[in-house]
Amino acid sequence: VKIAGYRLSGPWGRGYFFAPEALKRVSCAACEHVLCVYLPGNVVLKAYFDYANTYDCRPVVSERFRRYCVRLRLPGVRFVEVNRRRKLHWLVADRVVPHSRDRRDVRFGRACRRCKYHPNFLVEAPTLDRRHSTLRRGFWRTDIMFGDMMIAHPIVMVDIDTARRLRRRKFTGLKLIPVTARAPGDAARSKPRPRSARHR
Ligand SMILES: [Zn+2]
Repeated sequence: VKIAGYRLSGPWGRGYFFAPEALKRVSCAACEHVLCVYLPGNVVLKAYFDYANTYDCRPVVSERFRRYCVRLRLPGVRFVEVNRRRKLHWLVADRVVPHSRDRRDVRFGRACRRCKYHPNFLVEAPTLDRRHSTLRRGFWRTDIMFGDMMIAHPIVMVDIDTARRLRRRKFTGLKLIPVTARAPGDAARSKPRPRSARHR
C-alpha cells in the first residue's frame, strides 16, 4: 500500500480548548457542534509536550515546534497563540485534501435536526482519495471532520519528507502515523462482509 503522507498525533486529553461557558455560546444547543470561530483565552495543560491534543481534540504545540516549522517555511499551517506565558500555539492546517467517502473508511452519522451537521466517524485509519495519493510539501487537513459534538475535527497531515524532518527533531509527544490512499471501490483492502449486512 502506498503512503500518501503522515498524520500528526500525540498525547490526548491533557487540558481543554473550549471554556465551558464559551462553548455554550459558540455551539449548537442540540448537538454541541461548534458553529463559529472560537479563540481560547488561555489553554492550560496538565503536562507539556511539543505536540499534544486537548480533550476536545485540538492540536496544541510548543514554541520550539512552531519555530521549526517557520524556519522550514512549511506551507499550509498557521499558529495561533493560546497561552502567552507557556508559549503554546494552536496548530491550524489550512489546506484541504479530500478524504475517502468509502463506507469501509467512514461511517456517516445522523444529521442534527437543528444545525444540520452530520458527524463522521473513522472506521479504521484515515484514508485519502486516490487522486491525492501523494501530499505535496507542508501541512494538510482532511475535508471532512471526525467525531461528534465539540470534538469534531479534521485530521492534520504532512508530506513524507516533512514527516522525516519532524521525526529527526524528536519533538516530545509527536507521533507520525502513515496515511494511505485508495481509489473509490478499490477492493484491495476490503474484507468479506457478513451476509446479514446487505439487508440492513
Ligand atoms: Zn446541531
